[in-house]
Amino acid sequence: MSDIIHLLPDSVANQIAAGEVIQRPSSALKELIENSIDAGADTISIQIKHAGRTLIQVVDNGKGMSETDARMAFERHATSKISEINDLYSLHSLGFRGEALASIAAVAQVELKTRRTEDELGTLIRIAGSRVLEQEPVQCDVGTTVTVKNLFFNVPARRRFLKSDNVEKNHLLYEFYNIALVHPQVSFLFYDEEELIYNLSPSNIKLRIENIFGKNLRKRWEQQLLPIESTTNLVKIYGYVGKPEYAQKSANQYFFVNGRYMRHPYFHKAVLTAYEQMIHENESPNYFIYFEIDPKNIDVNIHPSKTEIKFENEQAIWSILLATIKEALGKFNIVPSIDFNSEGDVKLPPKSSMGNVVPPQPSFNPYFNPFGDTTYQRAPLNWEELYKRFEKSNGMTIEKQSTDETLFGSKEYSSDEKEKIFDNNLLATSYFQLKNRYVLTGIKSGLLIIDQHRAHLRILFETFLNQMELQKGFSQQLLFPESLKLTVNDALFFETIIEPLKKAGFIIENKENYTYEIKGIPASLESVNIIELLRDLIEKSKTTEEDPSLHIKETIALTLSKAASLKVGQALTAEEMSALIDQLFACKDPYYTPDGKKIMIVISEEEIEKRFQK
Ligand code: ADP
Ligand code: MG
Repeated sequence: MSDIIHLLPDSVANQIAAGEVIQRPSSALKELIENSIDAGADTISIQIKHAGRTLIQVVDNGKGMSETDARMAFERHATSKISEINDLYSLHSLGFRGEALASIAAVAQVELKTRRTEDELGTLIRIAGSRVLEQEPVQCDVGTTVTVKNLFFNVPARRRFLKSDNVEKNHLLYEFYNIALVHPQVSFLFYDEEELIYNLSPSNIKLRIENIFGKNLRKRWEQQLLPIESTTNLVKIYGYVGKPEYAQKSANQYFFVNGRYMRHPYFHKAVLTAYEQMIHENESPNYFIYFEIDPKNIDVNIHPSKTEIKFENEQAIWSILLATIKEALGKFNIVPSIDFNSEGDVKLPPKSSMGNVVPPQPSFNPYFNPFGDTTYQRAPLNWEELYKRFEKSNGMTIEKQSTDETLFGSKEYSSDEKEKIFDNNLLATSYFQLKNRYVLTGIKSGLLIIDQHRAHLRILFETFLNQMELQKGFSQQLLFPESLKLTVNDALFFETIIEPLKKAGFIIENKENYTYEIKGIPASLESVNIIELLRDLIEKSKTTEEDPSLHIKETIALTLSKAASLKVGQALTAEEMSALIDQLFACKDPYYTPDGKKIMIVISEEEIEKRFQK
């Protein structure tokens, strides 16, 4: 038999590699704009048609390429930006892999026109599916124009994988914002179907933010942005954060490091922590935060399509970030009418003769309930109702559980936890409620103390989860569809959880301008404020590092049960306590809340005896 291993032709290898780099029109746009920035352009004009499916064109006035370089640029691993591995640690360009143009040319029809100042004539190259069709001298302006037509013309599977025009356009704009926000000195024009939708003249960061986002906003951006700044040995942090009262359900949130957009769930949490208690639970602050750090301390060699960046000293930066934002918010609270046009030059009022400066008083409503006036809010009052509902869903089975931590001495849980733990020789178990918070009862091995709120959370969590499993795809049509309006940023996060939501029974229709119409919901969620819930889930999907779609059912169930569970301070009757404990032990995991907190503790008989001996 003859040998069977051979090298793949370049065109095939390039197409495979392109799958990694170019996933959708927005990935191509991102690469092209980044190349223009790297080429030192100060004016970049972008043109798209059919959400980038048929046309993406980027025109720049950068340094251009020589005839040979223009041809070389389309080779894989051809780059002018690094030549040895150490260059990676002092990287000052956006690109460095030398893969983008080769990848784009593998899956589209590409035309490149380029000229350097020193050349009289420019070069024109046409390539389609990695095949060079034409190369010739051409009259053109200094700079580079790359025109990408019919993306994925030779990869039907990819084409089918693309989402609606609306979604793809969101992706395009998102990439555009990510770059435009870090290069305020560059002027950008953005044409969609020949209509000029953005005309951003050179400016500073603050004006750039306002020029991009200002038109959709209630108030002028300059009234709501607070400058932040902090320089330490480790990192420089600067930018703007929104005042607490301008927090939104769907906020614009951007992190950049060394001029590159990044996603950073961990730092996102630091920002949220700074605003804790200042804003409602289901709102989020706007922020545009720029980090400058020695490239040695971050891992840039990331996957081209990934935007997560690893930092050394993440914890230290977390604390610096938190302190920086807190400081800005603190200043703001003391001096509410600072003129922020003075760019961070904050003048504190002279210390009054009274001496003490009043600490910032966060304004927030501790009784705020994101779910509004719903049945679930009143659930504790409809106690019996809750159990009726629960009895109906027969899906609760007691499963054998194995955990390392043994609460009751034995490593093996029997199939009936309650029987094992409780003393069956007693005619009736009596329950005692302590501080309207804990339920106490005697068990075989001693005294059992249950946190009623946590127990209820577990019961509701499993109920909701069960209902979602059982009624898979079963939806309740909404008589009046609700509309969910998002920012580009949030729409992208929403897209990642939309499929599991549909599986859970949501009927969601995608409208224009990042608006979604919610036409149906899972039957178990009838009385919940759906819009608040979805916004809450979007926020949660931002802070999870894993694929949010994996946990979406759990997240929904947890969110719902938290809103509906017994609050601390709820008096319970003997029957209620008994029912609570029965239901708890019918749960798959009666010992821990879905978010991992202990539900019960046991004080053993020996422990009690010991105490009496002293
Ligand atoms: P990378 O940006 O990682 O180097 P690309 O495939 O994006 O790889 O580009 C390959 C090379 O082509 C770049 O290194 C650069 O020298 C050149 N190039 C690409 N786009 C432009 C442009 N708009 N202006 C000038 N040179 C460019
Ligand atoms: Mg590049």
